[in-house]
Amino acid sequence: MLELVDLNVYYGAIHALKGINIKVNQGEIVTLIGANGAGKTTTLKTISGALKPKKGKVLFQGGELEKVKAHDIVGLGIAHVPEGRKVFMNMSVMENLEMGAYSRKDKGEIKKDYEKIFETFPRLLERKNQMAGTLSGGEQQMLAIGRALMARPKLLLLDEPSMGLAPLIVKQIFSIIEDINEKGTTVLLVEQNASMALKIAHRAYVIQNGVVELEGNAEVLLNDENVRYAYLGA
Ligand code: ATP
Repeated sequence: MLELVDLNVYYGAIHALKGINIKVNQGEIVTLIGANGAGKTTTLKTISGALKPKKGKVLFQGGELEKVKAHDIVGLGIAHVPEGRKVFMNMSVMENLEMGAYSRKDKGEIKKDYEKIFETFPRLLERKNQMAGTLSGGEQQMLAIGRALMARPKLLLLDEPSMGLAPLIVKQIFSIIEDINEKGTTVLLVEQNASMALKIAHRAYVIQNGVVELEGNAEVLLNDENVRYAYLGA
């Protein structure tokens, strides 16, 4: 579904991605793990078009994305839940979800999708008219994911959904991610919480200083001594 080929991305003189090669197959959950500053967020931003690579390609279902404008990339089926959630604080839960569907015109289907989102996140239904800025961190994360799903993405990019959340809420969010994937959405998940991410992912890439250090089956990496020592605090 997605292939990053020799991706090189700069911030001015800073060479943040130094030739990243990553593949995501349809139906998978793939996770990118690695230390702070490794280049995980930069990778997601390049896929969704916020950053453009100096060299390399972003192939999505065979097409080249690096020349497509960010707002057109959503229409092709990629939705990005950014780090720090970034919901519209002064809008209600419902209005945030409506923003997620802005590029769609199929009104009947949009209505069905609101119902699906509220089935997945009953908490959002209870708080439908509440301002997003007054939701808890976990509820805001649910809203950010719900809003992204309103675009009916084929590929969902999630940047650190566990950030700043209590362990019980993190568990809940990860189980929802698994559920979303089982219902047919492919997921590319960036996480600091490597152990949780490796438990739900099919495959994983370890990113270090802008390059892929290690890749493989998530379960194998979860039990790999070097990964356990470097990233899982074991
Ligand atoms: P974290 O887990 O801490 O979010 P990350 O793996 O997502 O880390 P990135 O945010 O992709 O890392 O950062 C990769 C590198 O690019 C870092 O060295 C970072 O300092 C640099 N960088 C990121 N954003 C910018 C920016 N706007 N301007 C300059 N340098 C940046």
